[in-house]
Amino acid sequence: MPNTLVDELLNTHCLSRDGYRELLETLSDEDAQRLKIEAQRLCEQAYGRVVFRRGLVEFSNYCKNDCYYCGIRRSNAAVSRYRLSDDEILNCIKEGKALGFKSYVLQSGDDRHYTTKRMANLVAEIKALAPEASLTLSMGERSREFYQACFDAGCDRYLLRHETAKHCHYAKLHPKEMSLSSRLQCLEVIKSIGYQVGTGFMVGSPFQCYADLAEDLYFIQEFRPHMVGIGPFIAHHETKFADMPDGSVELTIRMIAILRIMHPKILLPATTALGTLDPDGREKAILAGANVLMPNLSPLRVREWYMIYDNKISTGDESAQLCTQLEERLRKINYRFAEDRGDSLM
Ligand code: SAH
Repeated sequence: MPNTLVDELLNTHCLSRDGYRELLETLSDEDAQRLKIEAQRLCEQAYGRVVFRRGLVEFSNYCKNDCYYCGIRRSNAAVSRYRLSDDEILNCIKEGKALGFKSYVLQSGDDRHYTTKRMANLVAEIKALAPEASLTLSMGERSREFYQACFDAGCDRYLLRHETAKHCHYAKLHPKEMSLSSRLQCLEVIKSIGYQVGTGFMVGSPFQCYADLAEDLYFIQEFRPHMVGIGPFIAHHETKFADMPDGSVELTIRMIAILRIMHPKILLPATTALGTLDPDGREKAILAGANVLMPNLSPLRVREWYMIYDNKISTGDESAQLCTQLEERLRKINYRFAEDRGDSLM
């Protein structure tokens, strides 16, 4: 029986909440294939047959939060905590510059050690060192003043995954002092300041059902972020979700395809979590509409400590130093890295 929701999505680029839920529940392998092909075509039409690369610097694994799924959550005493100095961070950027990067992402736990003043200074220094590159911060929920000061200092983008768009599901993944409302509030502020904004969610996180994923899609449809990062949930052995099953690579890729069809001009990373569960996961994502890769630029000595989930790949071909290997993978699927900073066309 033909799935009319597939045609509706392909024709109108949007569905209702119930439409997304039903689509996810009933999607056949054949229809999923149709969506992936169309998603790849739309992406190529908008951006060309290229992938943007962002050098990722994981600059601190201190975190004041206790998200139940995350390996660097506050209460995990088994992690060695580290913070990079400003000079160390600037050295990562220098290394990225030498490797030809035009875009950087600075990510950390929710670490208040990096004050507004310090981050604004650091942003200005990075932009002075690499004026040709775009800069993204991803360091959690902060004040309006913080976001504004970093933006004024030259930061271009901010990434804050909403994690799940349903309040009741959010409450199952986070302690009670955290709320979806405050996360969404931050996203509104970030957007209103003028950042290119990224959000996102995990696929297959504990207790998630199709209605939750449909809510994620609907939220993104309405909020219209410039970027959406999604990856499968992967259990971390020192969290209370240690025994929960990993998310599905196939479902993650279907979600990427649907997001691309909803917003042809959005930026969609093929995430490290996909590459961790499936060696070909990132290529599969690119062939279903993803167009960003985030090779790791962090100093080698700290990489094993930014383990947000078990077995996170960090020293293989996702290493910025080994971009030629990633390039080779792209060549095999007839893609290449773009030369520019990869601003969103949305
Ligand atoms: N402190 C920042 C960055 C968090 S780490 C912030 O709050 O935004 C980046 C992302 O890793 C998170 O947003 C989350 O979606 C993802 N993540 C954390 N633990 C994970 C796990 N066990 N499996 C898959 N993804 C995970």
